[in-house]
Amino acid sequence: MDIRFVKRKNLKEKPKDALGFGTKFTDYVFNMDWDEDEGWHDAEIVPYDDVKMDPASMVLHYAQATFEGLKAYKGADGNYYLFRPYMNAKRFINSNKRLCLPELPEDLFVESIKELVKLEKDWIPEGEGESLYIRPFMYAKEVKLGVAPSKSYRFSIILSPVGAYYPQGMAPVKIYVEDELTRASLGGTGFAKCAGNYAASLLGQVKAEKLGYTQVLWLDGVERKYVEEVGSMNAMFLIDDTVITAPAGETVLPGVTRDSVIKILKDKGIKVEEKHLHIDDLMAAAKDKRLKEAWGTGTAAIISPIGELFYKGEEEIINDFKTGELTQEIYDTLTDIQWARSEDKYGWREKIDID
Ligand SMILES: *Cc1c(COP(=O)(O)O)cnc(C)c1O
Repeated sequence: MDIRFVKRKNLKEKPKDALGFGTKFTDYVFNMDWDEDEGWHDAEIVPYDDVKMDPASMVLHYAQATFEGLKAYKGADGNYYLFRPYMNAKRFINSNKRLCLPELPEDLFVESIKELVKLEKDWIPEGEGESLYIRPFMYAKEVKLGVAPSKSYRFSIILSPVGAYYPQGMAPVKIYVEDELTRASLGGTGFAKCAGNYAASLLGQVKAEKLGYTQVLWLDGVERKYVEEVGSMNAMFLIDDTVITAPAGETVLPGVTRDSVIKILKDKGIKVEEKHLHIDDLMAAAKDKRLKEAWGTGTAAIISPIGELFYKGEEEIINDFKTGELTQEIYDTLTDIQWARSEDKYGWREKIDID
């Protein structure tokens, strides 16, 4: 790939205090443009800076925008890795198809990320649980107010060093089951990682927080009865001896972490069922203590234990509000693979060659 490079005059200071999530950004940004005549062209890595935009740029009005999220890790073996980036590349294509954005070939997606991360490798933090969060995104650039797919787009990648999600170790969260607002509906954009989905989820999140809960558990958009996702994570429930999670691909986002955890669970001999779970059955299982453990899965937190469910005035505590044994075990198995502390038996690590 031909990438124009513009060197920064002064590099930023690397952060010394707590990293948090998504507040600090590295020195450079990757950009590449698309239009009907030229297709993808003008790839560049340039100093991180403001984006100048016409106020009539289509993305600002009609939310034709998609994104991805993955991480780069400094492995225990001293190498730099991505985790299953081709899954993100495929999902990005599916999201872009749904939102009428152009297709970015898988190799180009992964190659662009590798080039930027290679340049910014000194930004990959090395503390326990720390990594470099990668945010590729695409948006409509055409200047016009007519409602139609834009005729030009920009693809960008920014990088953000992030801290351990739980600096004090995993801690269960309290979940509000949202019985009015919904996140996704049949035929909609639930499976796509698009900006608008997040805009639509904010009110539920704000409501949950006001009531003292950390996240929302979303129910399906047709009957508001079936469990779908928790915040922007996939949700899993250990009931009796089976892990149940909602089927992905239509109203549920196909998470890379979800897929990885399912494979790890099955490998450990644990039954996994991808099916629609009725909220009444979930609450009943919680009440009877047949719901042994529950957790969310996503790139940012990796695994987030669920300690409490609140639904229509009823409150149920899960596993005495402690991180479950299985929850901890899959977290350890997955993070050992990601940080190269264990053998990569699934071939999930993608090494970044630093020449
Ligand atoms: C990104 C995302 C997830 C998690 O996907 P990962 O690939 O595991 O990070 C789950 N649900 C929603 C709505 C998301 O946007």
